[in-house]
Amino acid sequence: MRQKIVAGNWKMNNTLNETKELLKGLKKELKGVKLDNTRVIIAPTFVNLQHAVKKTAKSILEVSAQNLHEAKNGAFTGEISADMLLDIGVNVVILGHSERRAYFNETDEALAQKVNTAVAKGLDVIFCFGEQLEDRQNENHFSVVESQLKEALFGLQAEAFKNIILAYEPVWAIGTGQTATADQAQEMHEFIRGLLAKSYDAKLADSVSILYGGSVKPNNAEEIFSKPDVDGGLIGGASLKEKDFSAIVKINLIG
Ligand code: PEP
Repeated sequence: MRQKIVAGNWKMNNTLNETKELLKGLKKELKGVKLDNTRVIIAPTFVNLQHAVKKTAKSILEVSAQNLHEAKNGAFTGEISADMLLDIGVNVVILGHSERRAYFNETDEALAQKVNTAVAKGLDVIFCFGEQLEDRQNENHFSVVESQLKEALFGLQAEAFKNIILAYEPVWAIGTGQTATADQAQEMHEFIRGLLAKSYDAKLADSVSILYGGSVKPNNAEEIFSKPDVDGGLIGGASLKEKDFSAIVKINLIG
C-alpha cells in the first residue's frame, strides 16, 4: 500500500533560533503520534538542516533539503551536492518547486539531471510540478503536467520510482489562499496515476504517493486528503505554524 505523506516546505524562512523554536513546538504538538505507513517530512533551509537532523533524530519527523546540484562536486559556487546532504543525514530532497522553476530558471531538462543524481544516490525525491493559471484557463493543464512529468521523470527506470514522491502543485494555488477544489485535485491525481500506468504499469502507478500542494490548511485538508488518489500534501505557509502543520499531519493520519 502506498504511503500517506505530509511534507512542510519552509522555503527561505527561519533563522537558527526560529528553527529551534519551531522544531520544539512541532515535537510537542506531535508527541505520542504514531505513524503507520505514513511519513512526516520538514524541509528547512540548507544552513539549518544539520541542526534539524540532530533535533528530530528521536521523533517522527524526517528532514528534507529544498534543492541539490546534479554534479558530484566541483566548481559550482553556492551549490550543494547529494553527497553533502547524505553526509549530514538528509535523505530526502524537494526538486522542481515552482519557485525554483520561475525564479532560478530550472527547466524540465535540468530537473531530469537533478532527479537522476538524487535517485542514483538513494535520496527520496519530492518532485513538484503543476500548471500556471493561464494553462488552466486555456484548459491546457493536463498537457502541461503530462509534459513536465515526461520530460523530467519518465526517463527513469521503473525501479527508481520507489524513491519518488510526486507533488502536484497548481501554481495558481501556491501561497495565494486559493486552493484547487478537492475534485480538481482528485481529477488531476487520477490523470497522473493513469500516465504512470501507461508509461510503466498499473502496479507501479498504484504504489507512488501523489501529494497535493497549494494553500492546504487545517480547514481544507480533510476534504482534499479524503480523495482516493490524494496521498497527502506538500504544505508551504501552514508548515511554519506548529499547530497548523501538526493538525494537517493528524488529519492525514486519519483520512
Ligand atoms: C508550496 O510552496 O509548495 C506550497 C504549497 O505553499 P502554500 O501551502 O503556502 O500554498
